[in-house]
Amino acid sequence: MSRHPLLLVLAACGALLPANAQTPPPAAIAAAPIKYRASDCHLHLVDFLQRTDGIKAVLEAMDKAGVDHTMISGMPLVKEWSMNETAQPQYYLDDDARCYWYSATDVLVANELAKLSGEDRKRFHPFICGINSADRNAVDHVKRMIEWYPGLWEGIGEIMTRHDDLTSLTYGDPAKADSVSLDPIYELAAANDLPVAIHSNLSSVWRREPIFRDEMTNALARHPKTKFIWCHAGISRRINIPTHTEEIRRILKTYPNVWIDIAWVVFEDYITKDGKPLKEWIDLIEEFPNRFMIGSDKVGKFHNYSPEIQKYYVLLDALKPETATKTARDNFLSTLPKRN
Ligand SMILES: [Zn+2]
Repeated sequence: MSRHPLLLVLAACGALLPANAQTPPPAAIAAAPIKYRASDCHLHLVDFLQRTDGIKAVLEAMDKAGVDHTMISGMPLVKEWSMNETAQPQYYLDDDARCYWYSATDVLVANELAKLSGEDRKRFHPFICGINSADRNAVDHVKRMIEWYPGLWEGIGEIMTRHDDLTSLTYGDPAKADSVSLDPIYELAAANDLPVAIHSNLSSVWRREPIFRDEMTNALARHPKTKFIWCHAGISRRINIPTHTEEIRRILKTYPNVWIDIAWVVFEDYITKDGKPLKEWIDLIEEFPNRFMIGSDKVGKFHNYSPEIQKYYVLLDALKPETATKTARDNFLSTLPKRN
């Protein structure tokens, strides 16, 4: 195959290289002294361009931050670099281009995991996520991954349903937590003892009532044998529900098959104020000491991993020691399939 001479010239000056290719990676942000052994319940090995610092970088970051175990998934969506844009977007919010579903993300995770040996490998708990969950055939991909990599997968997700701007930036109609297309996936998860991590917002960015709550509770009610990890306690950026803790309390009381992941902006925007944890959240977590878990929600880059885990120390310090240990580490592990 011959290359156009102009392309060769452009490539030689770096003009065809990705926007970030010439920038050296930022130096790792130092970790604070380790106070709690942790599990990370929410980590994406790759970003919205399916790029990654690599599994070894994750391992190094975990060691520095005191993280013994992590959930690891790919990213089910890719941000398109539109033919009309000169600047390459790095994040889904960078411009108006849409995102599309990308199943190879799971293969990428499996390939990276294969670089690890024995003890290191056991610290990673891979989840299958590369599905368009609005498609009633999506379960076929999950089955295929289980068949291709026997014994590898320990969960499904992050399933993307209602997710602020990402919902409208994605091609097609994204699924809702109770869409019929997700039923066979929840059933398969229950049959294989796999937890399902799902992103399903409680509301829109405009309304103050939890207008989408019932989509989640319908799924919980219809699939009592499926273990659900509700990502970010149903929150994304700019979502504001004054009755949030009451909603979560009622749901935890009603449905024993749901756990709450407090990763990402829900921690800064809801659980803490001016860096201090709010009493209503401390009380809620103490009332359900086995149901909350922490996560980094890092996507592909891990130089600033430690602060994303150690930010929870202010909350953990405010909990009873046994609740802190469970929230920091054990609750996530309790949802994983019981093997060996
Ligand atoms: Zn995520």
